[in-house]
Amino acid sequence: METKPNMTKKERDCLLTIYNEEKSSGLPLRLVDVARSLKVKPPTALELLGRLESKGYVERRRGLISLSESGREAARGILTVHRALEVFFASCGLSADDACGLVAQFDYIVGPSMAPKILSALGNPSKCPHGYPIQPQ
Ligand SMILES: [Zn+2]
Repeated sequence: METKPNMTKKERDCLLTIYNEEKSSGLPLRLVDVARSLKVKPPTALELLGRLESKGYVERRRGLISLSESGREAARGILTVHRALEVFFASCGLSADDACGLVAQFDYIVGPSMAPKILSALGNPSKCPHGYPIQPQ
């Protein structure tokens, strides 16, 4: 089993931030938007974006930032694992928010290939404890 993550926690946060912002606004982001969402300074956001770009997850054109198709796929994979594991920890008695905070520390390490196995072990739930669909569209 592959357990070496291909990104850091900060890169994971950056990837999911862009994914969520693109979904909510439907528009590409600027550096300042990414920095603000991540609560980091623009040079820090720029460094993270450069790393995600070199992995093929992020595209930058004339100052506008968007996810590539493989970036979107990686984000969806992390979110599916995230939401499935939230269901598990909520079933252990954690609140939805506590489960979310815990799972965010390692969902990107688990890997998307585990998602169907986790979901099957949990009886194939369709929603996370916050009510979001387990499989993001
Ligand atoms: Zn969550």
